[in-house]
Amino acid sequence: MNKLRIVDPEVACWLEKELEREITTIELVASENFVYEAILEAQGSILTNKYAEGYPGNRYHGGCEYIDEIEKLGIQRAKDVFGAEHANLQPHSGVNANLAALMALVKPGDTILGMNLQHGGHLSHGSKVSIVGRFYNAVAYSVNRETELIDYEEVEKLAGEYKPKVIIAGASAYSRQIDFARFRGIADKVGAYFMVDMAHIAGLVAAGLHPNPVPHAHIVTSTTTKTMRGARGGIILCKKEFAEKVDKAIFPGTQGGPILQNVLAKAVTFKIAKTKEFREYQQQILKNARRMASNLHNCGFRIVSGGTDNHLMLVDLRGLGVTGQEAEDALHRVGITVNKNMIPYDPNPPAVTSGIRIGLAAVTSRGFVEEDVDEIASIICDVLKNIKDSAEYGRYSARVKDLCRKHPLYLSPLEAGTLL
Ligand SMILES: *Cc1c(COP(=O)(O)O)cnc(C)c1O
Repeated sequence: MNKLRIVDPEVACWLEKELEREITTIELVASENFVYEAILEAQGSILTNKYAEGYPGNRYHGGCEYIDEIEKLGIQRAKDVFGAEHANLQPHSGVNANLAALMALVKPGDTILGMNLQHGGHLSHGSKVSIVGRFYNAVAYSVNRETELIDYEEVEKLAGEYKPKVIIAGASAYSRQIDFARFRGIADKVGAYFMVDMAHIAGLVAAGLHPNPVPHAHIVTSTTTKTMRGARGGIILCKKEFAEKVDKAIFPGTQGGPILQNVLAKAVTFKIAKTKEFREYQQQILKNARRMASNLHNCGFRIVSGGTDNHLMLVDLRGLGVTGQEAEDALHRVGITVNKNMIPYDPNPPAVTSGIRIGLAAVTSRGFVEEDVDEIASIICDVLKNIKDSAEYGRYSARVKDLCRKHPLYLSPLEAGTLL
């Protein structure tokens, strides 16, 4: 950061503070991760200088001979990793990928059926505050009140009743496997397209540790962040018959020039995703998540749906008389970052909530294994059970620092020692 410090010391200072925060706290936000340094290099590269509207071999700017090679390589790797017939690496983000996928499939005003935001779905699957909810007539399915699993019977009933043009599966706060074949069966029955947004679970899918939606869905969208542990941005995978429509919906439909440094970083992400180390990393995420869920359960918390099949879980705090907001604040004070989150049928409003969402992808990237998860769970348990007793917070913070020192992020143990 030598140049940045000279040109703009003010932002450089905040950037250093953020790095220090990442190094010295425990990150349990389920959508976050720490990328490999090769990804940081790719995203910080000179490709930010280049314009390349269009696609390899068919650009609206000159000088794209090397960009074409990078994008072609990235597309081929994405297809290999997920077994897809076509891939588009240009979506600036997950929401942009969803917007373009919907543009490729339906017209404004058409009916779409997605998962209820308050039950774990994503804003961009039809919420009224999202452009998706404004453009399309969005209907939502729920999870079952008792099992807290997706209510496939309700999906089928709503599909029959509303005849949606697209059914969307995928979630931001759902800890169980999704039955893509069952969804596709329902879509076929009512003549709907089936779209899957696998943003949260893409890394597990890439490693073969979660069922792959690609064989079942007409279009699959994702981010390459989160469990993929890669580039900031989105992707769209689809069957050949939708390739042209999808590409046109990204450019010129919803975007201009691609963010090429991110396209490069996506190519690197998919190369890494083929390695043995990546698969082991994803396996460790699953082990860590199960260990966290069972520890929190043993400590008296209720885990929504009783456990987890992926990298995240929702913790119902009502038994403790603590709200999601209070828990988020208390954990933040000791150096543990989580987000408050609605639990299904939550009696509290979204700004308060009765739960927190916990994800294990980021700490697993730091090298945390089960025994470290035991210690995090024990700290969470101590903090939330003694939430009023702020005299103890210093002791909990020291335990957090010990864990961070044990698994330094982006630094040698010696460098980390000077911060911690
Ligand atoms: C995170 C997420 C997105 C949004 O991705 P952005 O890159 O933040 O736009 C979309 N869908 C789901 C299911 C997500 O979890």
